[in-house]
Amino acid sequence: MSDVCPVCGMPKELCICGAITKEQLQIKVRVAKKRYGRLMTIIEGIDPKAVDMKALAKRMKQKFACGGTVKNDTIELQGDHREKVKQILIEEGFPPENIEVI
Ligand SMILES: [Zn+2]
Repeated sequence: MSDVCPVCGMPKELCICGAITKEQLQIKVRVAKKRYGRLMTIIEGIDPKAVDMKALAKRMKQKFACGGTVKNDTIELQGDHREKVKQILIEEGFPPENIEVI
């Protein structure tokens, strides 16, 4: 007999009580000025347990044809892509009211 979650009664491997969902995340999209006046779009608040950040960053880089990296639970993209980032996050299932564009 496998372990059962005391909250939902589901087997532990199917239980999502402890899981973080996209609906719970508060995303912040802002622009930072880097060296030589270059602009970076910074996306904060995504939890790597809820989202495949590498895949998300890859999708954004392809769509915007820009460079970018994933660091410390933050996605950084070269250039100012704030409005387009918001659009992609909505397409990915993040509630628009949880995405703050600064
Ligand atoms: Zn559970």
